[in-house]
Amino acid sequence: MSGKNVVLFGPPGAGKGTQAAKLRDLLAVPHISTGDMFRENIKNDTELGRTAKGYSSKGELVPDEVTIAMVKERLSRADVKGGFLLDGFPRSVPQAEALDKILAELGIKLDHVVNIAVADQEVKDRLAKRASIEGRADDADPAVIENRISTYKNQSEPCLTYYRPQNIVRDADGVGTIDEVFGRIQAFFG
Ligand code: AMP
Repeated sequence: MSGKNVVLFGPPGAGKGTQAAKLRDLLAVPHISTGDMFRENIKNDTELGRTAKGYSSKGELVPDEVTIAMVKERLSRADVKGGFLLDGFPRSVPQAEALDKILAELGIKLDHVVNIAVADQEVKDRLAKRASIEGRADDADPAVIENRISTYKNQSEPCLTYYRPQNIVRDADGVGTIDEVFGRIQAFFG
């Protein structure tokens, strides 16, 4: 099996969370989800949580310095030595640059940026549907959904352009059943 230092990337509604759980089991590495870390902090009403909530409730990114510091601390722990699955980070080019620096300092090389590719209209449809099913606060309001999509387009998608010259982007068509999409992802690790 090829390297296990992995970023899972894709627009909101791409099914990252679902695929992350399956990929974590396949690779047997820690799943590091910045969205989950923020939600946990919001739930526990920590200072970090209160900061994060002000942004996530509007569909905006939590500022880079806050997010990068949180990820840096997490990646400094021993359990990432055998690999990691980063989910929801990086979400901006400065975060991607910071990740390269953090990993270089740790002597770790990023092996794969798995990009779950979903077209814009499909993303909108899925987020609207998820809002009605899960009642996630950041999916509930159409204006927030729009904001999350434009944030992705303007700030997050450029990460792919940043990574492509490194030849580590693996594009997986995100349309299909959970198992179909996972089959495409799994193929990168065969
Ligand atoms: P997610 O569950 O990954 O969609 O994340 C939920 C929310 O947490 C996002 O809408 C952002 O407000 C925040 N968030 C998660 N990851 C990041 C990140 N890498 N940079 C900035 N904000 C983030």
